[in-house]
Amino acid sequence: MKDCGDTTYSEDMEDFKIRIKSSQSFAMKIDTLLHEYAHCLTWFGAESELEDHSGEWGLTYARLYRKFIEWDYGKNQKKRKRAVGPLPSQKEFDF
Ligand SMILES: [Zn+2]
Repeated sequence: MKDCGDTTYSEDMEDFKIRIKSSQSFAMKIDTLLHEYAHCLTWFGAESELEDHSGEWGLTYARLYRKFIEWDYGKNQKKRKRAVGPLPSQKEFDF
């Protein structure tokens, strides 16, 4: 594999395969995964036949990246649950 990763589509299996170069850092693997996943999501898009990294792909990549950053490994969801959720013995808040 010459690049950081690649994506292929099997028409027989109707499935995608993403490969990520294992020698990269964890952060680069995440970056590559999001990059390749954007290819999957735009594979059958209107611009996919024109170029690999079309505007459609770029917008999808940006949206995935933003969602990933907002998700932040689920850290904020856990904090939010603890901050506003009822105690384990409560079904609802008392107020
Ligand atoms: Zn690419």
